Amino acid sequence: MDYNKIFEDIYTELSKIDNKGVVAEYIPELSKIDPNKFGVQLTTVEGDKFAFGDWDERFSIQSIAKVFSYVLAYSLIKSDLWDRVGVEPSGTAFNSLVQLESDKGIPRNPFINAGAIVVCDILVSELEKPKEDILTFIRELSGINSINFNSRVAESERSTGFTNMALVNFMKSFGNIHNDIEEVMDLYFNLCSIEMNCMEVSKSFLFLANNGVVPYSGKSILSPSRTKRANALMQSCGFYDESGQFTFKVGLPGKSGVGGGIVAVHPQRYCITVWSPPLNPKGNSYKGMLFLEEFTTRTELSIF
Ligand code: GLN
Repeated sequence: MDYNKIFEDIYTELSKIDNKGVVAEYIPELSKIDPNKFGVQLTTVEGDKFAFGDWDERFSIQSIAKVFSYVLAYSLIKSDLWDRVGVEPSGTAFNSLVQLESDKGIPRNPFINAGAIVVCDILVSELEKPKEDILTFIRELSGINSINFNSRVAESERSTGFTNMALVNFMKSFGNIHNDIEEVMDLYFNLCSIEMNCMEVSKSFLFLANNGVVPYSGKSILSPSRTKRANALMQSCGFYDESGQFTFKVGLPGKSGVGGGIVAVHPQRYCITVWSPPLNPKGNSYKGMLFLEEFTTRTELSIF
């Protein structure tokens, strides 16, 4: 299939639509990004690559990184992960506090902020150097050693991260955070600040399209059964209170971030990453969502 032509056609179509999205402003560093940036990249499990626009420019992957931290915790660590974080869609915003009280400090899933903070707490408990180890893990998945944190973004988020600090304190009061809050949040803010381009994100998610094995290195990251679970979690929880919409319209497991990136996985076939910074009110890329909907509709390639 000529994916490059399809990318160009959809892009041309979408440029006629007024972008109603707004770039994330609650993290000051993210508000500086040019809202007209647009990139898309698809890598197949066989290694074929297709790309369009600003696909090779790095952006802040933000919550896309929550998949890496969750997979690292799930793959390397024998711990009480599922006693401390659930597997249900939250139906609430990514940074919501409301459910945590009735759920006694147990976040609904690892992809909302509270869930990712618990995963960071587990990584701090289990790893000697959690920051270095998460970077090493992502570099290993992508095969690209220059992937790194952006300390300006991490600092910017720390300086305005009052809601995230409320989440971690609240969970600590229920006994669901075991380590020093500063240490856990240092890992969380750095995790969110990782920068990658569309190609690097697609490549590093490819093991999820390949039964848990990185296709180009042959390294097994997750068993097929755990890979199924990771994809299922992305399907039901990857877009916060818009996860149902994404499933309904795009029909693939995926994950978004407030940097405007979205990655979607077609098991046994490919990973596709779109980047367009302006966000819809749910915190997901406005044009990224539309692009992927159009892509799976035109190609008739979805899991449903
Ligand atoms: N770093 C962001 C935050 O904690 C991540 C949110 C997101 O990408 N949805 O608010």
